[in-house]
Amino acid sequence: MQPMGNVSDTHVVVVGGGGTGAAILYDLVQRGFKATLFERGELTCGSTGRHHGLLHSGARYVVKDRAVGRECMNEVRILKRIAPEAIEANRGVFVAFTEEEEAYRETFEEACAEADIPTQWLNADELLAMEPRLNPTLRGGVMVPDGTLDAYRLPMHFFAGARQLGAVIRNFARVESFVFEGRRIAGVTVRDLRTGTDETVACDLVINATGGWAGKLAAMADIDLPITPAPGTMLAHQGRLVNNIIERLRPASDGDILVPQRGLSIIGSTQWQSDDPDDCTVPDKDVDFLTRAAIDMVPDFKDTKYHKAWAAVRPLAGASSTEEEGRELSRDFDVRNHGTLDGVEGMLSLTGGKATTLRIMGEKTVDVVCGMFDVEVPCRTADEPLPNYRQFFRHGVLV
Ligand SMILES: Cc1cc2nc3c(=O)[nH]c(=O)nc-3n(C[C@H](O)[C@H](O)[C@H](O)COP(=O)(O)OP(=O)(O)OC[C@H]3O[C@@H](n4cnc5c(N)ncnc54)[C@H](O)[C@@H]3O)c2cc1C
Repeated sequence: MQPMGNVSDTHVVVVGGGGTGAAILYDLVQRGFKATLFERGELTCGSTGRHHGLLHSGARYVVKDRAVGRECMNEVRILKRIAPEAIEANRGVFVAFTEEEEAYRETFEEACAEADIPTQWLNADELLAMEPRLNPTLRGGVMVPDGTLDAYRLPMHFFAGARQLGAVIRNFARVESFVFEGRRIAGVTVRDLRTGTDETVACDLVINATGGWAGKLAAMADIDLPITPAPGTMLAHQGRLVNNIIERLRPASDGDILVPQRGLSIIGSTQWQSDDPDDCTVPDKDVDFLTRAAIDMVPDFKDTKYHKAWAAVRPLAGASSTEEEGRELSRDFDVRNHGTLDGVEGMLSLTGGKATTLRIMGEKTVDVVCGMFDVEVPCRTADEPLPNYRQFFRHGVLV
């Protein structure tokens, strides 16, 4: 199919160099747009480089939201095809440690079946043979196609693909303000944080892919973006105590995910509300809580060495004023066209989603871009394998 608009002359600026920005940038240049990405820090320095690295099959969300579960599963199949080197060949098990958790099995398996997420019940002996360090009081567990993903390498595959196709990637470059022509955004002012110099870059469209900071960027254009930045803590101990992701067989809650990540065991997470996504100070109580939660699942956790506790920000789509409201928000994503919604032309914002769903978030966003510029080029990111993340560095240093 040929582009109908003059696609190669259409310049799109992407703000935010996390996984979402990487996937949008790659999709844009693959469909023929001219694209530049600005990231205020190192690439992936936001939530992207700091989450657990759980490749979600969707099982965690599926009882509450079948569509999100199905979408995650679909993306897992695609990512394993297009970026296999960013994903470990392990699985996930939702373990029942209590009678109540065992009773949740039926609801959970039914929901997984409806969302096309394959499951396999393992009895206590089978599970302990596979993961001997699990708390022996367990009653069994449901195995699902969760896995460990490399939080850094996965987006770097997308950045490598984008660079190969001519995208310009500028890090340590912070977008400071927008250039308006009437009510239309016609460019951005960018500060090079290494030199302190400012420049103006003209563009036809800005895509706000700044994750937890999306509300702040939108506010620069006088837009009130419905987003809830919701930080959460993770805790790593040295030593790999399990080889598969371990979760609890119950509705998603705090302290119920244990991820083997290289030589570490990561337990997560918690959730709180914050107006300032830059303030990610770990509350002391979280460290105690997560340590106890890990020991409940894997008693040997108490004998391993503390490595680090840190936090990242969930860019939840939708506004909320209390922690309870924030927890009720969907894990789906939202692409907002501020021209139609807020009367500010020339800008889209993306909120919500997960690291696992970066590719489809890129696809849906660029579908909207194509609609805006009357371009008919189909998305190919699900079909074409990405270059290895190492290829990114073959192009020399960033400009
Ligand atoms: C505790 C926790 C655990 C999680 N675990 C998982 C998991 O295991 N699996 C999973 O799939 N998902 C997980 N997530 C969700 C996942 O981390 C996020 O959905 C994802 O990383 C968001 O990526 P992003 O690119 O949208 O945002 P980010 O990675 O935060 O990227 C936004 C970028 O925008 C940049 N920026 C901001 N303002 C500007 C500006 N003015 N100019 C230039 N750049 C700017 C920031 O520096 C940042 O790098 C977890 C989230 C949390 C909080």
